[in-house]
Amino acid sequence: MQIFNGKVVCPRCDGNGLVYKSRIDNLDLIVYICDECDASWQDDDICLNKFQDLSTFLQSKGLTYKDAKILDLGCDWKK
Ligand SMILES: [Zn+2]
Repeated sequence: MQIFNGKVVCPRCDGNGLVYKSRIDNLDLIVYICDECDASWQDDDICLNKFQDLSTFLQSKGLTYKDAKILDLGCDWKK
């Protein structure tokens, strides 16, 4: 996992995005999302072979991106 200023760098878009923690309110779930490419992780092991596209993940839960109530809990979750 690559860390920049205490924040986790997205391994998928190669340093362009930071991974923030978020809570999907309708699902009562914590996910970790890249602010650039919308790669998502369901646990805090942020590695390239585990990401799922956020919209794909939401669809698998019966939600669209628009319906999902995504609360941004910030990028400082790693500390
Ligand atoms: Zn990314």
